[in-house]
Amino acid sequence: MQDHIVQKALDTIQEMLILCDSIGRVTYANAKAMSLLEYDKLVGRVNVSDIFPNIFEKNEKRLVYKGEPEDSLFFMDCYRSNQTYFPVKGHVISLTGEDAYMIMGYDATDEVLLSKMGEKSKQEVEQAEKVRSEFVANVTHELRTPVNGILGNARRLDEIETDPKKKEILRLINHGCADMNAIINNILDFSKLDAGKFTLEEREFRIRETIEYVEANHRTKFTEKGLEFLVRVSPDIPETVVGDELRLVQILNNLLSNAYKFTTVGGIVLEVIKTAQVEDKVELFFLVIDSGIGIEKESMDKLFQSFSQVDASISRKFGGTGLGLNITKQLVELMNGSIHVESEPGKGSTFSFHIWVDVPRTEENRRTMETVITPEQSASFAVGPGNTNALHFGTEENARELEKKLSKLALSVEMENWEKAEMFMEAVRGLLEEAPREIKSAGLKLKMSVQKGNMEKSMEAYDKLVQALKEQMELEVS
Ligand code: ADP
Repeated sequence: MQDHIVQKALDTIQEMLILCDSIGRVTYANAKAMSLLEYDKLVGRVNVSDIFPNIFEKNEKRLVYKGEPEDSLFFMDCYRSNQTYFPVKGHVISLTGEDAYMIMGYDATDEVLLSKMGEKSKQEVEQAEKVRSEFVANVTHELRTPVNGILGNARRLDEIETDPKKKEILRLINHGCADMNAIINNILDFSKLDAGKFTLEEREFRIRETIEYVEANHRTKFTEKGLEFLVRVSPDIPETVVGDELRLVQILNNLLSNAYKFTTVGGIVLEVIKTAQVEDKVELFFLVIDSGIGIEKESMDKLFQSFSQVDASISRKFGGTGLGLNITKQLVELMNGSIHVESEPGKGSTFSFHIWVDVPRTEENRRTMETVITPEQSASFAVGPGNTNALHFGTEENARELEKKLSKLALSVEMENWEKAEMFMEAVRGLLEEAPREIKSAGLKLKMSVQKGNMEKSMEAYDKLVQALKEQMELEVS
């Protein structure tokens, strides 16, 4: 290339370029170097050890280079003519055969400032996170003590109290305290997971017994609400596995409680299937299927975010903090798995997740895992309750469900168990969703009386609703 072109290029580039000889004297400096260093003349006048004192040292006879290895990009302090300095990012190349150096770099003032600001804000964020998680830990701990105090005293009172009305109030206090403890636990778990301070406690456990325990936890509640509950564990699942049993129970409890909360007719299915095996590990696939209200497509992405509830009116009605699914997702991921949801509004939701667990090499495990699953057995898995027809007013299933729920509602009103009455009222309202206007408004009146806990008015409204229904369809309710 012609010299004048090279010269033009060197004077136009945005990097400074300095050459020096074996004793450090500058032999060439491009225009950028001149302007950055604020010298009128550099060549022959200045030594590179004055410009870069941290990387060059002038010995008596020759220049000594103390910087990073050749070709590596690094920061160096670069001194101007007035002895002020600024950071330069660049590299130093020794010109073999000539005993000289070439220094190239650009003004990195902006870069250094930004990274310092970034570092500072990172420290601030870390500090704020620490304060927050300590605060959450303290507050939740402080809350737990009075809640348990109330709980203990309510229980003592319950032992000596005989008046059913007062006992009912005590039961509600008990219930409230249990809810409060559940919320406190959720907040604690969330803050630990969020701060990355959560560890799993892995132990050997019998998974079928765990599932039975979970089933027993929920069965009564489900049955009382008139929901079917189907639990299926695939026969080829090992008897014992190694994992965090308590946290698995927590995940299942959360999904089943949600299924219960958002389902008024039909049922809930819990299934466990073995889906893969790699050496001593198996992949367990869990499905929680409900025939509840379902979730709109737009809300599904938000579902696993913290503090997210699909609909504020739903959360007022059903309670909850919106932390459950976020915690569940994080726990599943700690177990090397993932969680998914499929749902159709008005028809129901299926939450599925998989986790990996270790399988101890025992004779018992070997035997169960070798169980061959017949195609019929496998087809019986992954089938939902499919009782969605009941939701359509006027169908036979709908009439049957209405009969069931109405008689349970009447019973609860008679016994003045208002909590249960409200629950059955919800179910009835779900079943009346598609009913004609007069029937829906009779339903609404009944709901209001039930909410007020007014027995007489409730009975009256109940009779009116049943009458209106009888005019519409053949219903066998007394
Ligand atoms: P919360 O602790 O408030 O129940 P979750 O994180 O468990 O919070 O659930 C968040 C929201 O997701 C619920 O408020 C509800 O709107 C929706 N949701 C969760 N499970 C179901 C389900 N089985 N059917 C319908 N909606 C659900």
